[in-house]
Amino acid sequence: MSQQDTGPPMRYSGFNVIRQGLSGNKGWTPAWRDPAPKAEYDVVIIGGGGHGLSTAYYLAKNHGLTNIAVVEKGYLGGGNIGRNTTIVRANYFLPGNSEFYSHSLKLWEGLEADLNYNVMHSQRGLINLFHSDGQRDAFVRRGNAMINQGDDAILLDREGVRKHLPYLDFEQTRFPIYGGLLHPRGGSARHDAVAWGYARGADQRGVDLIQNCEVTGIDVSGGRVTGVQTTRGAIRAKKVAIIVAGRSSQVAAMAGMRLPIESHVLQAFVTEGLKPVIDHVVSFGMGHFYISQSDKGGLVFGGDLDFYASYAARGNLPMVEHVMEAGMTLMPMIGRAKVLRSWGGIMDMSPDGSPIIDKTGIEGLYLDCGWNYGGFKAVPASGWCMAHLVATDTPHEYAARFRLDRFRTGHLLDEEGTGSQHNLH
Ligand SMILES: Cc1cc2nc3c(=O)[nH]c(=O)nc-3n(C[C@H](O)[C@H](O)[C@H](O)COP(=O)(O)OP(=O)(O)OC[C@H]3O[C@@H](n4cnc5c(N)ncnc54)[C@H](O)[C@@H]3O)c2cc1C
Repeated sequence: MSQQDTGPPMRYSGFNVIRQGLSGNKGWTPAWRDPAPKAEYDVVIIGGGGHGLSTAYYLAKNHGLTNIAVVEKGYLGGGNIGRNTTIVRANYFLPGNSEFYSHSLKLWEGLEADLNYNVMHSQRGLINLFHSDGQRDAFVRRGNAMINQGDDAILLDREGVRKHLPYLDFEQTRFPIYGGLLHPRGGSARHDAVAWGYARGADQRGVDLIQNCEVTGIDVSGGRVTGVQTTRGAIRAKKVAIIVAGRSSQVAAMAGMRLPIESHVLQAFVTEGLKPVIDHVVSFGMGHFYISQSDKGGLVFGGDLDFYASYAARGNLPMVEHVMEAGMTLMPMIGRAKVLRSWGGIMDMSPDGSPIIDKTGIEGLYLDCGWNYGGFKAVPASGWCMAHLVATDTPHEYAARFRLDRFRTGHLLDEEGTGSQHNLH
C-alpha cells in the first residue's frame, strides 16, 4: 500500500475524534503504510522495537534522511517495547549515564506533542525505598547527583513515605522501611503506544516500516557493509544499524562479531483491574520488586532476571514465587489481588549494566544494544543519539561513553553492579 492509498497523514485531535465519531468512525486512515521492501536504502535499521523506531524517526526529523527501512521480523511493538513494566526515570548517578537519561526524560516530556500521539506518559513520581543507614547515604548521594544534573529528587523519611504509601508494611523484620528517594518527574507511559507513535511519525516522514521480514544475513565486502539478506529478499544499504535488543548477539554474529552481551529472560505480571490504589511507581530494590498501577487499574509489577541465559520470551515458576513473596513482604494487601497475566522478554545484558551505542569494526555497520532491563525509558534518547551517530559518524556527546571497546579498555560504566556475570553462565 502506498502513501497515496492512505491519503495524507492524519492529525490526531479532539476535533477529529468528534468529527469521526459523528460519521461512524469510518474516516480513520491506517497509522502507517505497509510497503514492500525496495532494492536499496541509504540506511537499513534491523529491529522494529522502541529503539529502532525512534532511531528512524530522529534520522528523518533531525537529520533529513528519509530513504530508510526499518526491517522487523515480527510485528511492530511485539518485542520488549511491548513487554516491559513501563517505568520512566532519570535517577542515574554516574557521569555518562546521568546526562543521557536526563536528556531522555526531557524528550519524554515533549513526546506526545512532538509525535502527535498519546503515549500516556504519566509523571506520577517514583519512590525508591531504602532499608538501612548505609542505603540512605547511598540514596542521598544519588539524589544530589540527580539534582546536580538538573533533575529532581526529594529524600523522604519513614513518615514521609508513609504519607504517600500508607499501605506498605513498614515494620517488616527483614527490610524495615527507613525512607525513600522520591523522583517526582519519574513515572510511566503506555509501552506499545510508544512504538506506535514513533512508527507513525517515522512513516509520515517517508521511512518504510517492513514487518514480517527477518534479517538472516549481513553482507560485508572489503570491510564495509553493503546490505542485508532477509526472508523477503536481499536489500542493499549504505549503512546498517543493528538495534535488536535481546537478539543482538545472534544478529551481530551474522557480521562475524562476538558481542559482550548475554540474553536473559525477565518476567512481568499484571493483576485484574482494581480501583485506584497506588498512585506512584514504587521500587523495593532489596526485594527485587517494583510496582505501579496502570490506567486500566491492573497492578503491574516485576522482579529480577530468571538468571539463566535464554531466548525464550517466557519465564520459570521459581521466579514467579520469588516475585509474589516480595510483593507480600512489601504490601500484604496485594495478596487479595488476582494475577491475570504474566509474560517474559529477552534482555540484552551487558557486563557493566550500561548500553552500547557505537560504530563497529565494519564500516557503515552500527550497534545499539545492552539495554539490560532499563531500556524503555531510554527509547527517546537512544534514538536521538543513535541517529546522530549514523548520520554524522560521530558519537553524540550524551552517548559518548557507551563505547563497545570499553570492555577491552576497562572504561566501564558500572552503575549498580547489575550487569551480566559471564563467569556464572
Ligand atoms: C518484563 C520487562 C520489564 C521491563 N521493565 C522496564 C522498565 O520498567 N523500564 C525500562 O526502562 N525498561 C524496562 N524493560 C527493558 C526494555 O523493555 C528494553 O530494554 C527495551 O524495550 C529494549 O529495546 P527495544 O524496545 O528496541 O527492544 P525490542 O522491542 O525487543 O526490539 C527489538 C526488535 O528486533 C527484532 N528483531 C530481532 N531479530 C531480528 C532479525 N533477525 N531481523 C529483524 N528483526 C529482528 C525483534 O523482533 C524486536 O521487535 C523491561 C523489559 C522487560 C522484558
